[in-house]
Amino acid sequence: MIGFYFLRQFSIILVAFHLIQFMTFKDLGLSAPILKAVSKQGYESPSVIQEKAIPLIIKGKDVLASAQTGTGKTAGFTLPMLHNLSENKKEGKRKIRGLILTPTRELAAQVYDNVKSYSEYLTIKSTVIFGGVNQNPQVKTLRGGIDILIATPGRLLDLCGQGEINLSKVEFFVLDEADRMLDMGFVHDIKRVIKLLPNRRQNLLFSATFSKEIKQLANQFLTNPVAVEAAPENSTAEKIVQRMIRVDNGLKTALVIKLITDGNWQQVLIFTRTKWGANKLSEKLSKRKISSAAIHGNKSQNARTKALAGFKDGSIRVLVATDIAARGLDIPLLPHVVNYELPNISEDYVHRIGRTGRAGESGEAISLVCIDEVGYAKDIEKLLGEKFDFEIFEGFEPVDKPSEKKPHQQRNNRRRGTGKKKFSNPKGGGNNRKGGNSRSKKRY
Ligand code: ADP
Ligand code: MG
Repeated sequence: MIGFYFLRQFSIILVAFHLIQFMTFKDLGLSAPILKAVSKQGYESPSVIQEKAIPLIIKGKDVLASAQTGTGKTAGFTLPMLHNLSENKKEGKRKIRGLILTPTRELAAQVYDNVKSYSEYLTIKSTVIFGGVNQNPQVKTLRGGIDILIATPGRLLDLCGQGEINLSKVEFFVLDEADRMLDMGFVHDIKRVIKLLPNRRQNLLFSATFSKEIKQLANQFLTNPVAVEAAPENSTAEKIVQRMIRVDNGLKTALVIKLITDGNWQQVLIFTRTKWGANKLSEKLSKRKISSAAIHGNKSQNARTKALAGFKDGSIRVLVATDIAARGLDIPLLPHVVNYELPNISEDYVHRIGRTGRAGESGEAISLVCIDEVGYAKDIEKLLGEKFDFEIFEGFEPVDKPSEKKPHQQRNNRRRGTGKKKFSNPKGGGNNRKGGNSRSKKRY
């Protein structure tokens, strides 16, 4: 009897273990050509959000999904959409059956790359459109007929207005990085797009955060949505070492150069608060023979694409970016992120450091904090619910008094230091999200 009891307990544990450990993409109900593409990408098992969202989407549900940046949300909506569209083929000329809206050009291009890879073994055709580049090649592709369109709202509405795009046959409507869309003030554009869609369609809304605004938006255009959420994976978050270094504003460039050269960092993403600051820092790094490029909203699309490609292939060592790059850009296995200036919106900090320690890799996020940014650091502590220990570098000891000016307006008129690190107190963790109420309407 006792033996039977233990045997039964043991088999329950075994089954549970099996379920936890061995959930596969096949178990989610995806078709063979999609499984082949997924395995070609090297994905071994679905992420939590994929596991939760994919079966619901295949069933035809409207889904509201939220999971941290870097958790594979793109495949979470793309794979089931490809599955359903290819299972239910349509005869005749291709019509747009899937529409994916993204907030930025880079994201649109990135989602398109993913859609292309995931549909490699299907007959589905997709394309991407965004502003800042000539529309003619885009129009030419559209006229040839496509099944899935990935777009930023501006160019989409523009081409709809010109009669080049007809959205009346859309079966899937996806709003990707929805929180970013709202931050960037796209809510009216989204509503205009929705008016062009047929009433009967499946809607998917994917977001890094689940704020009140997101839920309101979801209520407006999703039908009986199922909400799925993946809690931040502590294993990933805890692998991000966060360091705060107190340093005077005028010494930040010297310190960042020291960190890069002493640490022999080969791939580092640096955030600045302004486009001007990004250009300036990138120029200074290049002068010191550290290959670098700036990426922000004032750069042409070609320059942005080139900079990102160079950074990914290792020919550019440092990418200096404004917050435009903070969300969604997929730069795998990024070991170092530096906040040259702290963002005044604490949530942006979380998104910025989310660029490191991805997919189970460890990473380091270093923030350079001058006297005028200590308040921002306190805000971030509040958001994360933890305290930072500030480090001070020998030769870079802060002496500045709080200024009347904003930090980025101060001049670089301080001595250069060379000393060694005095003490370091790396802190892990703290990537948990709390709420989403600090909304801003900036356009980068
Ligand atoms: P998110 O939109 O959640 O920020 P992405 O969709 O951009 O994340 O995916 C982040 C990275 O994870 C990409 O490089 C993607 O190829 C990879 N990825 C997605 N799903 C898996 C998976 N199941 N296994 C391994 N890697 C994955
Ligand atoms: Mg994404």
